[in-house]
Amino acid sequence: MKAAVFYQTNVPVSIEELEIEAPREGEVLLDIVGAGVCHSDYHFVDGHIKREVTPWVMGHEGAGVVVETGPGVTNLTPGDKVILSLDAMCGYCRTCSQGSPALCETHPDLPVSRMQKNGQPFYHVRPTFVEQSIALADACVKVPRETPLEKACLISCAVITGIGAVVNRAKVETGATMAVFGCGGVGLNAIQGGVLASAGKIIAVDKVPYKLELAEQFGATHLVNADKEDPVQRIKEITGGGADYAFEVVGFPVLVRQAIDSVRPTGTAVVVGVQPTGEDIYVDGWDLLHDRALIGGWHGAATARVDFLWLLDLYNQGKIKLDELISRYRPLDELNEAFDDMNQGRVARSVIVFD
Ligand SMILES: [Zn+2]
Ligand SMILES: [Zn+2]
Repeated sequence: MKAAVFYQTNVPVSIEELEIEAPREGEVLLDIVGAGVCHSDYHFVDGHIKREVTPWVMGHEGAGVVVETGPGVTNLTPGDKVILSLDAMCGYCRTCSQGSPALCETHPDLPVSRMQKNGQPFYHVRPTFVEQSIALADACVKVPRETPLEKACLISCAVITGIGAVVNRAKVETGATMAVFGCGGVGLNAIQGGVLASAGKIIAVDKVPYKLELAEQFGATHLVNADKEDPVQRIKEITGGGADYAFEVVGFPVLVRQAIDSVRPTGTAVVVGVQPTGEDIYVDGWDLLHDRALIGGWHGAATARVDFLWLLDLYNQGKIKLDELISRYRPLDELNEAFDDMNQGRVARSVIVFD
């Protein structure tokens, strides 16, 4: 079974053959069909997030077909198509019961090892840059047979994280103004979340002209190139004093600060980007005192079993863009090249596909 493995920062990911176990209690074995290439994966490689446990089998955004079910799995059978949720959800803990299964308390998603090579354990949660994966059944959302998994895999992370941050977490009201800092895979989905929410103005901020073009295609009403103009000042001009909502979708404290600075009193800044390990965010206390809020949005505050099917419906009705998110399909052997494309801003999303 071929898999992408991370050993240490600033070293290219290695593609190698691993052995995979049969699924244990509550687990399923999957054939992965499509896996989106997300910045969060590269964050280990460039050291933005520290990954202590290695070797680490990579990938988190994906979809596949159930091959075998472990003991105790009753909701899935071989042949079922599933989109992996980023978070396993038990359905009965406090956060699941309150409607926040993305923060399920029963499944902390600690690293496990169901993959080995020459007796050496390889660690993972539920990797997707693999021909086959092991996942908790509680992390699998069964989807209709006709679902194109090589596209729908993006719902697993990019689509739900972006749209969910706007619709589920911030609950942007009709007519509100919003800004999105960072127009990668998640940011573009925050923009189309703004379209779904009928936001009055959707301001896209990025430094890469190609991403700003994509942002316009996804529904941004105003484009701000942060290399050429001060985004905070421009957002204040466009909105007449500050946006109602600003989403930070890159993952840097300095941009969180800009997001806060660009919302009006009573406005809300939302942290969506994965922040560097161990770094603090500084805000001016008076900004908060003036009825501003700074909130986080974990994986689009998703109820995956409901929201994934909702997003598939919207896609089938032409109300959200999925095809336009995928700039390129690549085989697993080209994962490092796909990371390069992402880092150079040449793609919206690459998808790794398996024969
Ligand atoms: Zn992701
Ligand atoms: Zn739970």
